[in-house]
Amino acid sequence: LSTLYAMYKLNKENKKKKAQYSPIIIEDHRQIADGLTDLIGNTPLIRIPSLSNALGVDILGKCEFMNPGGSVKDRVALKIIQDAEDRGDLAPHTNSCIFEGTVGSTGISIAMVSKAKGYRAEAIIMPDDVSAEKADLLVKLGAEVEKVRPASIIDKKQFVNLAKVRASQYTERTDKAVGYFADQFERLSNWHAHYDGTAPEIWKQTEDGQFSAFVSGAGTGGTISGCATYFKQRNSNIKTILADPEGSGLYNRVKYGVMFASQEKEGTKRRHQVDSIVEGIGINRLTANFEQGLEHINDAVRVSDEEAVAMSRYIMANDGLFLGSSSACNLVAAVRSAKKMEKGSSIVTILCDSGGRHLSRFWDDSRLEELGIKVRSDIYDIIA
Ligand code: PMP
Repeated sequence: LSTLYAMYKLNKENKKKKAQYSPIIIEDHRQIADGLTDLIGNTPLIRIPSLSNALGVDILGKCEFMNPGGSVKDRVALKIIQDAEDRGDLAPHTNSCIFEGTVGSTGISIAMVSKAKGYRAEAIIMPDDVSAEKADLLVKLGAEVEKVRPASIIDKKQFVNLAKVRASQYTERTDKAVGYFADQFERLSNWHAHYDGTAPEIWKQTEDGQFSAFVSGAGTGGTISGCATYFKQRNSNIKTILADPEGSGLYNRVKYGVMFASQEKEGTKRRHQVDSIVEGIGINRLTANFEQGLEHINDAVRVSDEEAVAMSRYIMANDGLFLGSSSACNLVAAVRSAKKMEKGSSIVTILCDSGGRHLSRFWDDSRLEELGIKVRSDIYDIIA
């Protein structure tokens, strides 16, 4: 009996400690998901103990790596295809094929979601310098991959531009089937996936927006714009902060209203490219999805490759979370922002994908050192 009483007391104390966050509320009581697409979204929000305890500000990460395709992009792939079906632009089982230019994550999500929804071998066009495992995985998922040399967005052979061309060539070539250009950068279905999904989930998980700031990087800008707009419409005190890797122009656009990253990088051979080890975020032009929420983005934090690498190693060692490069970049910016905030407040950020997608670059220490990026696992200068 005394053991039972001790257990009861312990349980009660633990409940009291955790009372500030309610558990995830599962409203749909079905036990069985109806296919892969039912598993997309409704991801948990995790408090990151090592950072939160050190800062006195809770750092909360939305676990997008828990989507079935392993990243935040599952939401976007699903919404793009659903919207196209609703408009009558796409129909399943018609030999229609989805084309996209992507550094990987969106391609993986498109490949999986389109298979689940009855579309054909998807064609993914990607630059040839992204991690090899992403291209390998795409092939295993049944997608056709075309790798191209990294090029400026004004170049017709740039991977996104080429995806559009390939889609229309497919439509011309085939009889009733359609080549559909997913167009994650410009198509606002992307923004909607976050405005209708990611943001309301975060809102609910934080008891109607009990947090002070939201931090996110931007690749297409869908996540940051969709969430910033949703939060700002409900509570204008919630700040949205962009996490931007080196070489990206968005930092300057948010801070100073102009984008001059390409000049900054003048003299390097890839001056139209974002020269960072961080994949998936950072860009040198304004996309329709980013512009959609730009007015709601309050500030930006520049994150170096070394800082992102250090954060990922630190979080792995202290919290057991194995994260990808954009998640690490978000966490660096979240910590920087937290240092300016009142103790006891909370910051929400996105844990976009896991380290498993980044084994041959971001998580390969010797490769990083070859590239001149120092690998360390202390974050003293970030957190102090
Ligand atoms: N992280 C990863 C790994 C990504 O692939 C992307 C999208 N390119 C992002 C973050 C950024 O998301 P968004 O496109 O919504 O700006």
